[in-house]
Amino acid sequence: MQLLKPELIVDVQSKSIDFIWPDYRARFTYQRLREICPCAFCRSKRIKNIDITDDQNIFVTELNHQGYGVQICFSDGHDKGIFPWEYLKSIP
Ligand SMILES: [Zn+2]
Repeated sequence: MQLLKPELIVDVQSKSIDFIWPDYRARFTYQRLREICPCAFCRSKRIKNIDITDDQNIFVTELNHQGYGVQICFSDGHDKGIFPWEYLKSIP
């Protein structure tokens, strides 16, 4: 298991973040990150098929490294999601 911290590159123009590991890279838009938020609250919304957010112009307001992943705070006020590196790598 690769738990290395990736390099994060925020692209304000395309509203996305690149996560770059030595062996893998992934790009997620802010919107997509909001939709895949791994916190219990958003997980249960997804299970019930409830929209995660009604904000279609979401942006990332803060990134806080947590060692095993990153806490991402969003412009809709949601800051409960800590995105483990392994989780980000597992999203197709
Ligand atoms: Zn969440």
